[in-house]
Amino acid sequence: MSSQPIVQLSGVTKTYASATFAGVQHIDLQIKAGDIVSIVGRSGSGKSTLLKLIYGLLAPDTGSVSFKGNLVPGPHEKLIPGHQSMKMVTQDFSLNTYAKVYDNIASMLPNTDLKAKREKTMEMMEFLRIDHLEQKRAVDLSGGEQQRVAIARAIITEPEVLLLDEPFSQIDPILKHELRDDIRRLSRYLGITIILVSHDPADGLSLADKMIILKKGVKIEEGKPAEIYRHPQRLYTAKLLAGANVIS
Ligand code: ADP
Repeated sequence: MSSQPIVQLSGVTKTYASATFAGVQHIDLQIKAGDIVSIVGRSGSGKSTLLKLIYGLLAPDTGSVSFKGNLVPGPHEKLIPGHQSMKMVTQDFSLNTYAKVYDNIASMLPNTDLKAKREKTMEMMEFLRIDHLEQKRAVDLSGGEQQRVAIARAIITEPEVLLLDEPFSQIDPILKHELRDDIRRLSRYLGITIILVSHDPADGLSLADKMIILKKGVKIEEGKPAEIYRHPQRLYTAKLLAGANVIS
């Protein structure tokens, strides 16, 4: 495998006019193909902004975002914003709520080969353990089930990078466990690079190959989750990862 990172950010700054710490500042980041990367930080720390910059929904004010060595086109350079080799699952899941699960997923593929379309859709539903829900409408599913449909829709077109915005926010602790397993399987068996955002670092601790800690738009730590957990360099990180007692 090439040593070139699949996604690279160099000195990326994106500010919004309205707030003091809005956006992200001077972010340098390298993401290896096949890794699971977890971006964590308190609400408002810039996690979603970073995800949108990687996907090309936002353009950086300064610095660059590249995919396999080529600049990611910004929203004004494309008719449909978003990089063609990446897919993003947002918190609203963007499902067609009154359509069946099968149709929600199958509609992502063209009608050029109907047999292949059916097989691929069934394969994705089985992979994400939602094949028994095939004929149900999306509106009749639980949050966790809708999340799986949204992920199936995203991966059926075989993106190289999957971006997940707060994937664990709408599901209970038992289902979290299952979703973590599914995300790990996606990464291992399909080889997809996964970048996920969470306000709760526990979500990424056992899952991620790499964790990035954001504070007020600045990357303050980066590394293997276990190392950051055992040896946090900053008080903010220690407080974020576990209840820390501070001795002055
Ligand atoms: P997070 O995902 O960590 O909650 P965001 O990336 O959504 O953080 O936001 C980071 C900061 O940028 C916050 O202060 C937020 O209020 C601000 N922000 C985000 N989007 C906009 C926007 N479209 N206009 C103005 N400020 C924004």
